[in-house]
Amino acid sequence: MTQDASRTGQPRARPAADDADVIVVGAGPGGSSAAYHLARAGLDVLVLEKSTFPREKVCGDGLTPRAVKQLVGMGITLEPADGWFPNKGIRIIGGGVRIELDWPELSSYPGFGLVRTRRGFDEIVARAAQRAGARLLEGVTVTGPVLDDSAQRIVGVTARDTAAAEGGAERSYRARLVVAADGNSSRLSLAMGLRKRDDRPLGVAIRTYYASPRHDDDYLETWLDLWDGNALLPGYGWIFGVGDGTSNVGLGLLNTSASFGHIDYRAMLRRWLASMPAEWGFAEENQVAPVRGAALPMGFNRTPHYTSGLLLVGDAGGMVNPFNGEGISCAMESGEIAAQVIVQALARPDRASAELALRGYPQALKDAYGGYYTLGRKFVGAIGHPWFMKFATRHGLPRPALMRFTMKLLANLTEPRGGDAADRVINALSRITPAA
Ligand SMILES: Cc1cc2nc3c(=O)[nH]c(=O)nc-3n(C[C@H](O)[C@H](O)[C@H](O)COP(=O)(O)OP(=O)(O)OC[C@H]3O[C@@H](n4cnc5c(N)ncnc54)[C@H](O)[C@@H]3O)c2cc1C
Repeated sequence: MTQDASRTGQPRARPAADDADVIVVGAGPGGSSAAYHLARAGLDVLVLEKSTFPREKVCGDGLTPRAVKQLVGMGITLEPADGWFPNKGIRIIGGGVRIELDWPELSSYPGFGLVRTRRGFDEIVARAAQRAGARLLEGVTVTGPVLDDSAQRIVGVTARDTAAAEGGAERSYRARLVVAADGNSSRLSLAMGLRKRDDRPLGVAIRTYYASPRHDDDYLETWLDLWDGNALLPGYGWIFGVGDGTSNVGLGLLNTSASFGHIDYRAMLRRWLASMPAEWGFAEENQVAPVRGAALPMGFNRTPHYTSGLLLVGDAGGMVNPFNGEGISCAMESGEIAAQVIVQALARPDRASAELALRGYPQALKDAYGGYYTLGRKFVGAIGHPWFMKFATRHGLPRPALMRFTMKLLANLTEPRGGDAADRVINALSRITPAA
């Protein structure tokens, strides 16, 4: 270790044995966003990613204006000619009603969303981080934390070549701070004793792709009619046009309904698609990818978001929006917030002061999402009751003004200050609801 700089007044120099200032584990949207913003601030960032780009990731591929804002903020150009397929808003279908809601025009977010498959998307975001100066090692699987002499604090990670799998040689990488952006299962967080919380909502979703004439739909279409017998389930089916001849089709359900444990997702997808007009092409012969599924960790379902040298970003910290299942924007936003906190912490003259800054990360996340996610958990609990879901679909959907409010609430798209009545109500509710 170099001399503690509290005596010199200078920021602490990097220990000679370290491989980087910060190690980021995982180059999904969360990890790449953190790496981009850290590198832009001049820090030496090492990103370790177990897969090799381009690679698939199970997702709906829908990007809301919040995600678009993050991409723009990373200097990524979003031309349709480069494969970005824009959309104007969402279309909601349910209870015999069909309503189209355009993304709101706001000073703080663009008025359009996008669709892009994760195969291309994640690589583009990772390359932007590299261009900003982050060092990315692909095909490297992180196997565990390296702890300091007290066996309390993470000071690096062990890793193996993914191709070598279990048999390959393990080596370690060291840094002052480590960001866990390794997704929903976050083995690194688990190894540091951070488990999922049972008191937070969880979703499960599956998706596949069909060649379909609906591939160029410029609204993100969601269907609320997912039934288990007589029970209307909390969740939705989606049809997102990718603009390349295919549609991403899937469904997601929340764990707040009694049916959650025993749903056959594939059978439900088949039943739902069988109710679609034949000319849309959602039939076996047009299916161009297998049905695959994964969990959606919501509403801060792994905490604390900072402990002992480790910061959690994106799905690793359970940051999926409980209102709508959107996780890409939250992963990217939390990556940016984590980077801001780290930059400040590493510039502090001594460890105690740096630690104080780092403990501000959970608070910064609470300030950004806490009250809103608490509201989301209540919403998710309410729609777990089939009668509430039925009532809301029957009486809410036919009322356009109420639905415009609902869309702003569900997509977390409000003006931070001022705005219209809906913005002010949602912001006030988020502010007064305790961030737990
Ligand atoms: C079916 C489905 C549909 C969805 N649809 C949408 C949608 O339409 N819009 C939306 O916004 N969100 C959607 N989501 C949620 C979204 O996919 C996630 O919230 C988002 O991917 C989180 O990003 P992340 O960077 O935190 O994690 P991830 O995208 O999971 O990235 C984690 C990265 O870490 C790497 N990694 C993992 N372990 C290791 C290791 N040990 N060593 C090295 N690297 C490792 C992985 O390879 C991966 O690249 C959907 C999710 C599902 C399951």
